[in-house]
Amino acid sequence: MLQQRKKTLAVMVGDVQVGWGAPVVVQSMTNTPTKDVFATTMQIKELAMAGSEIVRITVNDDAAAEAVPKIVKNLRDVWVMVPIVGDFHYNGHILLNKFPELAANLDKYRINPGNVGKWEKRDDNFRQIIECAIKYNTPVRIGINGGSLDDDLLSANMEANAQLDTPKEAGQVFIDSMVESALLSVEKALEYGMPENMMTISVKMSDIQDMVQCYTMLSEKTNLPLHLGLTEAGWSTKGIVSSSIALGLLLQQWIGDTIRVSITPEPGAKRSLEVEVCKNILQTIGIRSFQPLITSCPGCGRTSSDTFQVLSKQIGDEIAEKYDEWKDKYKDFTTTNIAVMGCIVNGPGEARNADIGIFLPGDGENPTIPVYVRGKSYKNLKWNKVFEEFMAILIDYFEGNI
Ligand code: SF4
Repeated sequence: MLQQRKKTLAVMVGDVQVGWGAPVVVQSMTNTPTKDVFATTMQIKELAMAGSEIVRITVNDDAAAEAVPKIVKNLRDVWVMVPIVGDFHYNGHILLNKFPELAANLDKYRINPGNVGKWEKRDDNFRQIIECAIKYNTPVRIGINGGSLDDDLLSANMEANAQLDTPKEAGQVFIDSMVESALLSVEKALEYGMPENMMTISVKMSDIQDMVQCYTMLSEKTNLPLHLGLTEAGWSTKGIVSSSIALGLLLQQWIGDTIRVSITPEPGAKRSLEVEVCKNILQTIGIRSFQPLITSCPGCGRTSSDTFQVLSKQIGDEIAEKYDEWKDKYKDFTTTNIAVMGCIVNGPGEARNADIGIFLPGDGENPTIPVYVRGKSYKNLKWNKVFEEFMAILIDYFEGNI
């Protein structure tokens, strides 16, 4: 059972609400050079079409800063309204002041307090970014990252810890410093006049246990919305599994108002995979519904052929292909549970528990293919037309005819 959701403050990023009971927001980040206006515009469109509700782009130099207003205009001209977040490191204060159009066109600024400068310069640079945010009425994310935690703060905390009679483990001091860095930055931003309801926080780390502890501690100390992410999650399966576990552990405690999955993409792979993973995490844990959920078994020695695997894939592919049309056309489309099973052992149970379910006969079983709708036996299908007949029943179900 999910616990009671914590009420955080509502922060508006463009037209998207983060926190205060809003659905957990899906975010992503481009990997095109921002100065390449065409490539970045196209990738933002791809991410938005895949379901990313906020997209972040890096703003690392003058060329990127000059490109941002053009990218935003290109997107709005074709009604892609997804809010755009600028990711700043080292020179955010310079770029935001030098390029007013950049500052005005972004829907949020991401600040990494570990990368804004050292000591007095750090405070002054940070203040300049906050003043821009206030001037342009733009929210910020205080984005702490384990890979670039403020050195000065960490060294001071390590030294103080070493003087204690019973010093903490170095790893614990690191986690404490992550949380402290976030909260100190929030405090400073408030001092400089930033309204409280214009800030979100993240404390990303690459170790799952540390990251979960860090966010859990932070959640107890602030009402600001939390942006969850396991940083540097890694490649393909490893990246997906580790992000799912990390985000799942926190979401299960209802910690987190927006999520991003940082998977290293295969060369040439679609960037939108990270959006698909976010959506699957939220849907699988039962927080949001984006598309019909297909439950299917892995198959085993009882499976008589690969028909059930083929069928499961065909149904998934058909739903993906018709997604844009069906999600608007059919009221219950995104919340429908479908079961596709391989034999009589768990087939009838899963088929009955789903909104609509089918199970194929396993080795040596009665060669019928039963379909269940809302828990009741509905029809037996023919072997040679199983996909076509099942899809016809599914559409009838979506249309409310059965
Ligand atoms: S439902 Fe049947 S085919 Fe599928 S995994 Fe279980 S025993 Fe194997």
